[in-house]
Amino acid sequence: MSGAWYSRRLAELSRLGGHAKPEGPGGGGGGALKLDSNENLVIGRRFQQEAIAHARANSDVREYPLGGPEMLASRLAAHLGVPARMIGVGNGSDQILDLLLASLASRRTRVLMPDPAFRFFEERCRLYGIPTAGVPFSDDMRLDAADFEARMDGCQIIYLDSPNNPTGFQFPRGRIESLVRGFSGGLVIVDEAYGEFGGPSAVPLTKKYGNLVVVKTFSKAFGLAGLRLGYLVADAAIADAFNRVLQYPYPLNTLGIWAGIAALDRAGQVREAAEAVRSERARIIRSLRGHDAFTVFDSKANFVLFDARGAYKRVHTALAEQGISIRKIGRIGAHAGCLRVTVGTREMNSRFLLAVRDLLG
Ligand code: PMP
Repeated sequence: MSGAWYSRRLAELSRLGGHAKPEGPGGGGGGALKLDSNENLVIGRRFQQEAIAHARANSDVREYPLGGPEMLASRLAAHLGVPARMIGVGNGSDQILDLLLASLASRRTRVLMPDPAFRFFEERCRLYGIPTAGVPFSDDMRLDAADFEARMDGCQIIYLDSPNNPTGFQFPRGRIESLVRGFSGGLVIVDEAYGEFGGPSAVPLTKKYGNLVVVKTFSKAFGLAGLRLGYLVADAAIADAFNRVLQYPYPLNTLGIWAGIAALDRAGQVREAAEAVRSERARIIRSLRGHDAFTVFDSKANFVLFDARGAYKRVHTALAEQGISIRKIGRIGAHAGCLRVTVGTREMNSRFLLAVRDLLG
């Protein structure tokens, strides 16, 4: 085995460490509170039940989903107000980001991105040996577009998860537009996985700029993470190459396609749930700011990042012992003990906030 041609590559891959998935089996059973993966626990179960019932009624899985991705793309186009030829769909936005990196980037291209950015994207760059450059956050967890402008020479791709995971910082659309305009020889990928919880989307800019790709998902605002539905919006030349060449022939399953279509027909419920997330997010931020032990950052996503400083490990462990799972992030710049909590329903958030209060009180 050690002499096999692939052993050296396997050893290299093992050193990469693999995905940082949350601990525990998930499933939400046994009174556990899963606030570690930024899923949407606010949108009611009825929403997915209706979507799945619609999918069952329309699907015959003896057949390949021929024409299915195109059908979902045309419904997305109507939802977003862009032509269908500007849309590509994928098996979660993870898969879309992966395909873009695997085919547009290489060891000879450099990707400029926030530091930290979405972990999976960083890991994927490492897997492919793609060089990266990071733009650090300020002490109040904000990014400055001027820092990107100052570093973009020598980079071919800018990746912005906006809102950013794990900080929740979102670039105003005007700042994204000036970055895209000033980077005309390069490609800007804006990952709006959490976009519906924040300010205006960058999607309308894709009609104006050929070097912008906006990647979005049904996993967050639509609460359909388990169905693995993502999509991109970009200039037709990019979307066409993505759809005809890069993407697999059948990237989505039939049930997912139909459930996605049904979900778009019920977008009003999504908007209501996103509104509830926003108001609960404000309540969590207010409440955590009441503790001197924490520094709490603003967020445009469905999670809140806070620096628990010296109480970092104690808070995380004590919550875990009570079945409340939040994400350990660790150091970001000057903030040594960052934790990230997903915004849940009012009851879930109250349970989390009470547990924190008891712990510090
Ligand atoms: N982008 C960001 C910034 C994320 O945080 C996530 C999910 N954690 C994704 C993309 C991937 O989402 P999905 O593959 O479920 O569409």
